[in-house]
Amino acid sequence: MSEHSHDCHIPEEESESIIDNIIERLRKTGMRKTEALEELLQTMLTHHRPFLLTELAEVPGLEDRDQATVYRLIMKLKDAGVVRQLSLGEKGNYFQLNLANHHHDYLLCRECGTVTEVPVECILKSVEEKLSAQHGWKHLTHSLAFQGTCPDCLATA
Ligand SMILES: [Zn+2]
Ligand SMILES: [Zn+2]
Ligand SMILES: [Zn+2]
Repeated sequence: MSEHSHDCHIPEEESESIIDNIIERLRKTGMRKTEALEELLQTMLTHHRPFLLTELAEVPGLEDRDQATVYRLIMKLKDAGVVRQLSLGEKGNYFQLNLANHHHDYLLCRECGTVTEVPVECILKSVEEKLSAQHGWKHLTHSLAFQGTCPDCLATA
């Protein structure tokens, strides 16, 4: 990741209990705890950002499986509400871990495909609050991705 990256990073001492918690939830849906599953969750937690399926397929323990198997695993996580799917730009589908109290918006570089977190506070938070207070909407959420050219690509252009 470049020096311009502001991605959300979960320290290891915190991630362990979060992963245990997620695996406990998954166990109730009949999913088994495997090393591959743990590696996958660890990867998606250490850097809390959207991942392409092709990136997740390279996680240790998954790299020898075919992409369809990885996809099925991700879909199970999605059905369980552990992961959400984001459609960003032309690259298509990204997958990100759902974490309570973690809301991020993204910057997507059209040149290199890098996805990075918007480093300023979400302005739509106040819109959501207004919709909730004045129009009675509840449980509002949104996903937002700005698309453009990143500083790294501009520097090498
Ligand atoms: Zn986060
Ligand atoms: Zn770029
Ligand atoms: Zn936002």
